Amino acid sequence: MRAVTFEERDQAEEYRHVNAEPADQLRLLDLQGLDSKLDQLAHRRRTLPQLAELQGLETKLGQLRDVHAVSAAADSDLAREQAKAEADVDQVRARAERDRKMLESGSGSAKDLENIQHELESLARRQADLEDVVLEVMEKVESSSARTAKLAADRAVVERDREQAAHALAQEQAGVDKDVEFSRSQRDIVVKQIPAPLLALYAKLREQYDGVAVAAIVRRRCQACQIELDIAEANAAKAAAPDTILRHDSCRRILVRTADSGL
Ligand SMILES: [Zn+2]
Repeated sequence: MRAVTFEERDQAEEYRHVNAEPADQLRLLDLQGLDSKLDQLAHRRRTLPQLAELQGLETKLGQLRDVHAVSAAADSDLAREQAKAEADVDQVRARAERDRKMLESGSGSAKDLENIQHELESLARRQADLEDVVLEVMEKVESSSARTAKLAADRAVVERDREQAAHALAQEQAGVDKDVEFSRSQRDIVVKQIPAPLLALYAKLREQYDGVAVAAIVRRRCQACQIELDIAEANAAKAAAPDTILRHDSCRRILVRTADSGL
């Protein structure tokens, strides 16, 4: 025998006066069926595989966007680097050009001309080095922009996949919503036929016992907890007035007698 908590005792007091005609008890079973169905639909809507797929694609897309942004930023950095390297070459070239003009003009002392000659040699080496730098940067620019283009293409693919997944999800959700709407409209009809005190007890038990407040007895077995009624319980159920609300000792839910109860 399970210990009865204060709350249950309190509740038993509160609802002791509740009786219900057998027809109302059967309607309560219908209501439970609809509420359980609605609970399942709500669970299904929360756990649709399309939802997980969409979330996965959104995560992937977020990562791709980040990587793509980093790659695009690297492109800009490299473009600046290339412009600077080219400007360096231009500068050396201009200087050499000026030097050559001075040599051609033949102005200046022999010493000056010799210095200019030396400078031109050094500028030529410098220019060759800087041109190597330009080539290196250009290679980097090329591979970086190829990478950025690849990432943009990947992003476009995932964006399209996400769009499709969102569409598939919306369709699934609409299907579930339609079922929900139908069950709700049926519930609205059933609920109006059930006396208020019985409904109040039902609501309280549903909250307390994991959404299941009432179950039929089928072949002496409670359909909520699947435990068979013992002899004493079965006899008490048989002897009880038809409008008595039975409660299962094992699970505390309301038990409803039906033609299949085997009592
Ligand atoms: Zn039970």
